[in-house]
Parts: sequence; C-alpha cells; structure tokens
Amino acid sequence: RESITINRRYESNAAAVDSSNSSCEKFEYQAEVNRLMDLIVHSLYSNKEVFLRELVSNASDALDKLRYLSVTDSDLLKDGVDLDVRIQADKDNGIITITDSGIGMTKQELVDSLGTIAHSGTAKFLKALKESQEAGTASNLIGQFGVGFYSSFLVSDKVVVSTKSPKSDKQYVWEGEANSSSYTVREETDPEKLLPRGTRLTLYLKHEDKGFAHPEKIQKLVKNYSQFVSFPIYTWQEKG
Ligand code: ADP
Ligand code: MG
Repeated sequence: RESITINRRYESNAAAVDSSNSSCEKFEYQAEVNRLMDLIVHSLYSNKEVFLRELVSNASDALDKLRYLSVTDSDLLKDGVDLDVRIQADKDNGIITITDSGIGMTKQELVDSLGTIAHSGTAKFLKALKESQEAGTASNLIGQFGVGFYSSFLVSDKVVVSTKSPKSDKQYVWEGEANSSSYTVREETDPEKLLPRGTRLTLYLKHEDKGFAHPEKIQKLVKNYSQFVSFPIYTWQEKG
C-alpha cells in the first residue's frame, strides 16, 4: 500500500497528520526524491561542503527572480528593498541558518519544489545513476551533477524551511528529516519567526558535521564556491 501512495503526486496523498489539527499536513516525497535522499544520506560522498554552494545558489536565484519581477512590479519590494543573503552559525548547537530576502515560495510552490524532482540537474543525476550499475559511482555523481536543495541532507539530520512569498499573506514552514519518506508543511505561527519576505533555511547538523557551524568555515566556503554571487552575503556567529 505504501508504494502505491508514494508513486502518486502530492495532490492525492496530502493527509492531515492529525485530523483535529489540519494546519500541519504530511506529504510523501515523490519516489525519485526518496531514492535521491536515500543516496545522499547514506553515501560516503566526501565533499559534503558543496551543500553551501547549492543553498547559496538557490538564495541567489530567489533574489534574482525578485529583482527581475520588481522591474515591472515595484510593489514586490514594498516589504524591504535590501536584497541579500544572511548566514548565521550557531556552533554551540550545530545549527546553520541561511536567510534570503528573495521571492520566497507560496504553499503550493513549496510542495511543488521541495517534494518532487522539478529541475534538470537532479533529473540528469538520476538518469546517470540509472545508467551506472557500478557500486560506488553514486557518490561521484553527487558532485558531478549537484543535487540542489536535497544536498542539505549531506550534513543535516533535519532541515526546516520557512518562507514568505509576496503573492501570499501567509508564511509556511516545510520540515524534513534525513531517513524519512515524508515531510510536513504548516503555517508559521511564531511571530518571532515571521519574515517580511523571502526564505530562511535552518539546518540541524549531524553530529559529525557540526564543525560547519563556524563563521570562519562558512566564510571560507562562501569565498571558494560562491564568489560570483552578485548579492551581499553576510555571515556571523550567534551569540551564546
Ligand atoms: P534548482 O535550483 O536547480 O531548481 P533545487 O533543488 O536547488 O533545484 O531547488 C528546487 C526549487 O526549490 C528551486 O527551483 C526553487 O523553485 C525552490 N527554492 C529552493 N530554494 C529556494 C529559496 N531560497 N527561495 C525560493 N525558492 C527556492
Ligand atoms: Mg538550486
């Protein structure tokens, strides 16, 4: 029964986690995403640091999209004109947050983008994976194709994405864990977590990867991998 639901698109398998609290919905990943997640979580891929490049590139894409659309619709900037990426490192708790003031996602966009394989890079990755029968090749393919958002699970046990689109008056929270075939989406209700616009990713790092939650480490990775991003990238250490 499980495999039947997984093969369906999210529209048909959205189910309330708890019928008395329909505001938190549980979704099954598309089958391909499950395969990809399984590989990412269990691979011995050593170049885990590429996760930051992928996430900063998504932030940059979201800022680009907003900038482009705001040329014809200046109203899109009414919640702030600053276009930037802020990376916060909390080394005591092993948490990294990446916040952009970009285009954000509506609830529908969240489910469409972070539950399916929507984009070409990852689709190519899976095709190459299918073609390669040799064990051990999978981890090399991760680096070759880039696995986008899901690369956050190279270093994280849990990922929380809180996002606000200018098209919606509500902010939504996506939450996923490594080793799970489902994720949840709910409305953001904590007033302290509300964003004027854009997306905040919170990465709860795996024990062995907590070393990434250092501002110096992050600055080094940003310098190495994201030097051509055309928006300011600020990094800082969370005060204890
Ligand atoms: P790609 O960037 O190649 O499309 P990803 O897996 O990196 O693939 O991201 C999937 C999709 O999720 C993006 O295309 C975008 O629609 C959405 N997304 C990811 N991160 C963000 C973000 N920070 N802001 C807005 N949308 C995002
Ligand atoms: Mg991407």
